[in-house]
Amino acid sequence: MDQQVKVGLENSSPIICESCGGDTFREATYLRKISRLLTGSQEDMIVPVPTFTCAKCSHVNEQFQVQDAKPQPTDPKIIS
Ligand SMILES: [Zn+2]
Repeated sequence: MDQQVKVGLENSSPIICESCGGDTFREATYLRKISRLLTGSQEDMIVPVPTFTCAKCSHVNEQFQVQDAKPQPTDPKIIS
C-alpha cells in the first residue's frame, strides 16, 4: 500500500465517516480465521486484513468492511 501516485491532493476527494461525518481515520486490522480443515495445516490460519476506522466514533465505512464476510454463528461480527 506504499505506491507512488503522481496525482496531487487537489485531484483527490475526502473520505467521510458514514456515521458521524468525521474525516480522520485510524488504521485497524480485521482478523480472519481460515479453518485448518480448509488449509490442511495443523492449526487454523489467521489472516490480517488492513482497514480503517473513524478516529472519532470507530465506525468502519462500508467500503472498508470485509466484503466477503458471511454471517456465521462461529464468526462474531466485528462491532465498533
Ligand atoms: Zn465516525
